[in-house]
Amino acid sequence: MAAEKNNVWEMTLSRLDATMDLLKIKPGMQKYLRQPRKTLEVSVPIKTDSGSIEIFKGYRVQHNTNRGPAKGGIRYHPDVNLDEIKALAMLMTWKCSLVGLPFGGAKGGVIADPTKLSANELEHITRRYTFEIIDAIGPDKDIPAPDVGTNAQVMAWILDTYSMDKGHSVPGVVTGKPISLGGSQGREDATSRGCVYTILSTLKVMGIDSTDLSVAVQGFGNVGGNAAKILYDLGFKIIAISDVSACLYNKKGLNPFDIEDYFKKNKTLCGYSSAEELPREEIFGLECDILVPAALENQITEKNAGGIKAKIVAEGANAPTTPEADKILKQNSIFVIPDVLANAGGVTVSYFEWVQGNLSYFWTKREVNLKLRDIMERAFYETYKFSSEHKVDMRTAASMLAVSRVAEATSLRGIYP
Ligand code: NAD
Repeated sequence: MAAEKNNVWEMTLSRLDATMDLLKIKPGMQKYLRQPRKTLEVSVPIKTDSGSIEIFKGYRVQHNTNRGPAKGGIRYHPDVNLDEIKALAMLMTWKCSLVGLPFGGAKGGVIADPTKLSANELEHITRRYTFEIIDAIGPDKDIPAPDVGTNAQVMAWILDTYSMDKGHSVPGVVTGKPISLGGSQGREDATSRGCVYTILSTLKVMGIDSTDLSVAVQGFGNVGGNAAKILYDLGFKIIAISDVSACLYNKKGLNPFDIEDYFKKNKTLCGYSSAEELPREEIFGLECDILVPAALENQITEKNAGGIKAKIVAEGANAPTTPEADKILKQNSIFVIPDVLANAGGVTVSYFEWVQGNLSYFWTKREVNLKLRDIMERAFYETYKFSSEHKVDMRTAASMLAVSRVAEATSLRGIYP
């Protein structure tokens, strides 16, 4: 039963059901919003470097496109499964709605471990996967972006495959692409920067002075690594950083730039000399002010939530907290900045990239970061105001705001034909 209980799709649906009941959404609309619009499952055969044939499984799910084209990342990870991708697609619908972007939600994934594949094999997986979903994606239909296990290079291969099929260059088919191919300044660290803006806003509304606050970050990839570096630059003390290999701890503070250099050389956090090495799960029990889960879903559970000592949890990752854990965090008066808000910076700058590409007019990094800050602060304060006025937590407030807008758009459009 434990596996069922932590099924991210079931959890996402139960949270949606609770939100729709609070919003008094009618049963027919409830049924509509629970279902993904389109679900693709594809086989991705490649010839490996050793000459053998391997078949990978891939998915692309579009949840709701009533507010605009579908938008969402592509994940390469051995644990990818359809329920996970459906849940993440739905979360993208709510995220775009919450921050006011004219997009619906999508997500894709391939069951593959990129750490065990050569660049050549990754390129072949990416190109064949793109070909298999080519009719579903496009700049006005569904625009992929990076997620766990994918990056700007993967986006460049998708762009090229799609463009070759169409017979002309179509840079708008993906975001998070390299700058030299029409990517946006500031996209690389946008999710983390957006997350930091929500942390700073939280400190403001809680009346906490940000000097000398300590932070623990789970995950040292795009989101966790950049969040640690931005917070370090702002003067926060990073007391712990963990990834799949280990948890590094130093109560006097760690230097994430130095750890990044170490990681680049050694491909692991293990063996880094200026820190104590703890089992990776211990990140959740450490004494700190702010905890940033930035790895995968289902990390904060009923087993470890009670041990969390942070005052603020900023969900850099998608769905890192189970509903049972949520209740415990609430009982312990921990302020949770929910995923759909805390990590919306990535899709926001993806939107900027899409706009800049459509206009063929590109902004400076400063312009991008200022516009990002505007959107993140506006979304934070709207959610905070709603949460105070309706006496609900931030996750419920974010969900109510987001779902009500999608329900309204769906109802205004009506049902085709
Ligand atoms: P990434 O692949 O760059 O990094 C993932 C990190 O998590 C790695 O450091 C990995 O070692 C670590 N990790 C994996 N399992 C772990 C475990 N059990 N314990 C500790 N660390 C573990 O991925 P990313 O792009 O940084 O994404 C991280 C999360 O943020 C995901 O939930 C993703 O959906 C979400 N997210 C990413 C973006 C984005 O722009 N990249 C945007 C919004 C949300």
